[in-house]
Amino acid sequence: MSVDVTTPLPPTPDEVLRGVFGFSAFRPLQRAAVDHCCAGRDVVVLMPTGGGKSLCFQVPAVVAARAGRGPTVVISPLISLMKDQVDALLGKGVRAAMLNSSMDELEQMRVEANFLTQRLDLLYLSPERLAAPSFQRMLQKTPVALAVVDEAHCVSQWGHDFRPEYLTIANGLHAVRERGAPMMALTASATHDVVTDLVQRLRLRAPTVLRGGFERPNLSFQVLHRSKDAERLEHALTVLERWGLRGAHSPHRAILYAATRQKVEDAAEHLSSRGVAVGAYHAGLSDAARERAQRDFALGRRPVLVATNAFGMGVDQPNVRAVIHLQAPGSLEAYYQEAGRAGRDGEPAECLLFYGPGDVRTQQALHRKGKVTRNQLDHKDASLQVLVDYAHAQDCRQVFMVRHFAGADAFTSPCGRCDVCTRPHDVRAMLEEGEARKRAKASPANVTPLPDQELAVVLGAAHALRKPVGKLTLAKALRGSNAADVRRKGLLKLPQHGALAHHSEDSLVVAIERLLASGKLVRKGVKYPTVWPANKAVRGAREDSPDADTTPRRRRGRGVSPLHATLLRWRQQTARRLKWKPYMVMPNATLQAIADEKPQSLETLLCIRGLGPARVERFGEELLRLTRGH
Ligand code: ADP
Ligand code: ZN
Repeated sequence: MSVDVTTPLPPTPDEVLRGVFGFSAFRPLQRAAVDHCCAGRDVVVLMPTGGGKSLCFQVPAVVAARAGRGPTVVISPLISLMKDQVDALLGKGVRAAMLNSSMDELEQMRVEANFLTQRLDLLYLSPERLAAPSFQRMLQKTPVALAVVDEAHCVSQWGHDFRPEYLTIANGLHAVRERGAPMMALTASATHDVVTDLVQRLRLRAPTVLRGGFERPNLSFQVLHRSKDAERLEHALTVLERWGLRGAHSPHRAILYAATRQKVEDAAEHLSSRGVAVGAYHAGLSDAARERAQRDFALGRRPVLVATNAFGMGVDQPNVRAVIHLQAPGSLEAYYQEAGRAGRDGEPAECLLFYGPGDVRTQQALHRKGKVTRNQLDHKDASLQVLVDYAHAQDCRQVFMVRHFAGADAFTSPCGRCDVCTRPHDVRAMLEEGEARKRAKASPANVTPLPDQELAVVLGAAHALRKPVGKLTLAKALRGSNAADVRRKGLLKLPQHGALAHHSEDSLVVAIERLLASGKLVRKGVKYPTVWPANKAVRGAREDSPDADTTPRRRRGRGVSPLHATLLRWRQQTARRLKWKPYMVMPNATLQAIADEKPQSLETLLCIRGLGPARVERFGEELLRLTRGH
């Protein structure tokens, strides 16, 4: 059946689907969303990118407008996103328009007139425009059939794309809602926190929450643990080559995500030098440069694009065959959304995530940029932890994601395409290797013992010292650090400086302690213990350099004091109990500060950098018990 303009009856959703959009059937979730919405209920639609969210509100919008109930207002965060949808709708004969600052005044007035006279089916706006008094006055005068909030996770601080202007939406829609218009909120981000938050902040009324299948049957996910950017790029090149993406005018596309602008530039330059027609995209470029990159990518002049997460929302490039994350993003939500830009045409595509501990540190640093509350920070760190877990999972990657987004009880079966499904042994080997490396770096309880020839290097370094130094300073020097204490003690010139850079600081401290225990090194200095080769005279009367006396005492000889060791053990146990990573319980620097300061009251605890009220409230008493014991 097609839409018959001569009948007085307004078209049904199925008629609009076929007659206007040219599809033969709704997908199951779309059907549910449309039905609930047409029945006047509030609806939350959680569906992965490419799942077909737009149709969920576009069909009810057309149905309502043709029934004379007025236009639908769609709040959308980006002009590019609005423009794509409006253009597509106009192409189908739907009366769609948008209002935003990129339009000239005459155009805006024309759209407003059409809105006021109900000659529009859908009007797309930014939250700012919705809140503008001039638009609020218009809303008072016009019936609105349905209010839609697209990319609704932007209202939640727990989402990966919080936009403060989204907080004004509920007020902006107040008049419309008072007159009974239902609301539909849509997002591809579906964690429990985000959903709870958006229901509350958008003031949805007893909404039906529809959760889409988060499986993407044409995508094969893979994680590779690699630390070096160069190795990652080499591997990425082989993927690009496999898709014939080393030259221009390929029918395929690939997106490479990098964590920072600098990394984008570096990767693009490297790939370009290797003959890849590659563009770069990040928020630091001019509008014109970004548009050019996007156009070159779409047209296939530069079929490979390296980008930060600034690229993507609203990108609907169907033939992306690979999405490669050169650095891990900040959360599994962000990863899923970005990786989900692969294979929107339904053809096979691959999603490769490179992962290394350095990525976690980069994301933690990014999390700490700008103004964030401790609570937000804790949440971001926890979201990051999920991504870390994903990278270490030995379950099917799709199953992991579906369980995360749709709940642990979601019915799903292994995909048969991801690395875990197809090469479980390789994945296990990769993880075990990483574990071994991590153990070597972790707490003093898990250090790698140095082989004899390397112990000899440590001893050699001690012999090359001109004056006794603290064992941590010596360990740092052996690792190649140029920290202030290493510089001050003149250890940059030590022949062994950097000779044991492949070992963790803790491993080296333990090695030094072993040399002390065996008597090959001795302790010098009483107040501030330093190390020195046995049977070697210290030149000059002082055992310590005069300038060192001006350095803060607590920084000296810091290795692992008994209290520090206790704190490390406590952190390990707490992390295990809470199923957190140790750094989430407390960063190293904070732990060190507590060991140095030995705070005896909650007040003094609060003064320790990196503790903050939330952690003090949670762990304060336990910490005091430990510090008071020392
Ligand atoms: P999302 O907004 O969830 O990322 P879109 O609304 O852009 O997804 O839809 C993704 C793709 O699926 C589009 O190419 C769209 O035309 C197609 N699509 C959506 N619904 C249907 C349907 N019922 N039948 C066939 N194709 C559909
Ligand atoms: Zn799988």
